[in-house]
Amino acid sequence: MGDHFVAHASLLLSSFAVLTSIASHCGIRIQRAKRMKTIDLRSDTVSHPTAEMREAMANAEVGDDVYHDDPTVNQLEADAAAIFGKEAAVFVTSGTQGNLCALLAHCQRGESIIIGDASHIFRYEQGGMAQLGGIIPHTLPVQSDATMRLCDLEAAINPDDEHKPVTRLVALENTHNMAGGVPISAEYTAQVAEIARRNNLILHIDGARIFNAAAAFKVDVQELAAGADSVTFCLSKGLCAPAGSILVGDRSFIRRARRARKVLGGSLRQAGVLAAAGMIALHKMRHRLVDDHAHAQLLAEGLSEIPGLVIKSQNTNFIFFTLADQVAMPLDDFVNRLRRDYNVFMSPYSGERGVIRLRTHYWIDRAAIAKVISAVSAILS
Ligand SMILES: *Cc1c(COP(=O)(O)O)cnc(C)c1O
Repeated sequence: MGDHFVAHASLLLSSFAVLTSIASHCGIRIQRAKRMKTIDLRSDTVSHPTAEMREAMANAEVGDDVYHDDPTVNQLEADAAAIFGKEAAVFVTSGTQGNLCALLAHCQRGESIIIGDASHIFRYEQGGMAQLGGIIPHTLPVQSDATMRLCDLEAAINPDDEHKPVTRLVALENTHNMAGGVPISAEYTAQVAEIARRNNLILHIDGARIFNAAAAFKVDVQELAAGADSVTFCLSKGLCAPAGSILVGDRSFIRRARRARKVLGGSLRQAGVLAAAGMIALHKMRHRLVDDHAHAQLLAEGLSEIPGLVIKSQNTNFIFFTLADQVAMPLDDFVNRLRRDYNVFMSPYSGERGVIRLRTHYWIDRAAIAKVISAVSAILS
């Protein structure tokens, strides 16, 4: 009876293995075919790795990165540090982890940071700084140009007063996500850095899309990072890597950030397979972000000519739009029809009711933009 069961079970298992291998094979094919047909504008985070990245990942030299033994990770970190003009870098699993590692490495429990009330770190990272680091956010209003007023900033710095938490750090975000992909200039960053230096504060930049800002201003990213003690940026999103972000700063800071990464469970072993895609993101893909911006502009222009559609803003690779009051169609119906009838993916923006946010990326080309414009115009006509 027992033997019988084992025989049946192993037969079942081996046929299951054959089936899953066929399915996964087909899955890859389906996935690739779908990539050709779907126009996904919900975010730049949906961007798949390129064929070149997949090949580099397959061929990556690897080692145990916790032992500092992974040559591909080491190279990626060294290159990132050089590109930002900083001493060192650490590869982290995500932008959220990079920001949290930075704040944990810079601040003690009970210390306070000054940060925009619409910042990703404050709004979309589960308050990790407070939840895990005991760090207190002192928020300031973010203006439509993505900056905080310098007078607000100066006024928010606590004096040496036993009633108040010690102000340790100020954080900027570039490009600014909730402001709509607005890039902040090197000049503004330098002004904030000067205030920080004068008051003994650390400056951290959440630069998830800082290469988009560099592309928008046609400046070297070093200019945008000058004066910052640390910067996080994403290799995913517009740069197309499947996962991974990088945190840059000086050597002793990066050593502390690596400790933080460990306690957050973010130290990886043969991470070279990811870093190999990251190398292409860093060295090649960042130079083509201007195309995403041109495509976003083209799309916004095309959409703005459709009666019933109102463009709210277009910056870098972001577009925000609404449907005019005279359009009777609910936003959800509009989104569902685009998906069902045209394979165009959009989603209502969680940050503001009645608004749709689009982001262009590598897989959105001119042909895709023409299709989107004609699909939207057909639905609204
Ligand atoms: C996406 C994003 C992050 C976080 O990146 P994840 O990799 O999704 O954790 C941080 N800041 C900004 C501004 C972002 O847009």
